[in-house]
Amino acid sequence: MRVFAIPMRTRFRGVTRREGVLVRGPAGWGEFSPFPEYGPAECARWLAAAYEAAHEGWPEPLRTKIPVNVTVPAVDPESAHAIVRGSGCRTAKVKVAERGQGEGDDIARVEAVRDALGPGGKVRVDANGAWDPGTAVHMIKVLGDLEYAEQPCATLAELAEVRRRVETPIAADESIRRAEDPLRVRAADAADIVVLKVQPLGGVRGALRVAEACGLPVVVSSAVETSVGLAAGLALAAALPELPYACGLGTMSLLEGDVVRRSLAAEDGAIGVRRPEVDEEALSRYEVDGAEWRGRVAEAQVHLDARRSVPGRGAAR
Ligand SMILES: [Mg+2]
Repeated sequence: MRVFAIPMRTRFRGVTRREGVLVRGPAGWGEFSPFPEYGPAECARWLAAAYEAAHEGWPEPLRTKIPVNVTVPAVDPESAHAIVRGSGCRTAKVKVAERGQGEGDDIARVEAVRDALGPGGKVRVDANGAWDPGTAVHMIKVLGDLEYAEQPCATLAELAEVRRRVETPIAADESIRRAEDPLRVRAADAADIVVLKVQPLGGVRGALRVAEACGLPVVVSSAVETSVGLAAGLALAAALPELPYACGLGTMSLLEGDVVRRSLAAEDGAIGVRRPEVDEEALSRYEVDGAEWRGRVAEAQVHLDARRSVPGRGAAR
């Protein structure tokens, strides 16, 4: 069990260092990196995902390359343009509804991104739940041709209301934190698309089951992991029967470094499906003692053991 802490290039979810644990098993390396606010019960799923990677591996891939989107933070239009042009991606996710900014900022940013993508490019926006339904409906109409709007509002009832009032497809991201959530999203008619991440859903197989039960198109997204965690996201994207949208797996650029020699970084808007090995030299740059993380693993382990017996997966020591 190896603990890492990698500085982030940009602050994300209030986090400036991405921390977590790497575990190694007969099938390879797995990553356990729940965000700081998650308690042991929730962390148990993240741990199950790491054990799946280390002890079982993943289902056979159905595709060799996964198209990814570039993410444009709530920056000025010139910066937004440059980020998209430099990315090589044909799909851009634009952050909107940033606190302290106005309608004009979002419109100008989306226009700049559309211009940078040129004809055939796709723009999606992500409000991270910040709009009320009225504002969401207004903004989605004002922003013009969008591939979809991700989590325009916070609650399922609000998402369902917005979805009834606009033609643009709605994607649920923050509304999905646990395995049962996608089914709630579906039951509430709250979204057309679900954003799924491997770790909170307990692994690639768990996420595939959720996707199948939910029946909505899936966008696979990362939890801003190292390439060890990203490989699991790629495995999920590669194993889904259908993959109609570019995925949110191009997040290596958010981290200052990695624990592998050749990172799972996007090239020409896609990431090749592969599973990189942890590189000792790379890991040594970011390895920390991490007593706190050993505690988090032990607590998550208790919940995991209580929830179900997991044959062949002893506690990480
Ligand atoms: Mg999102």
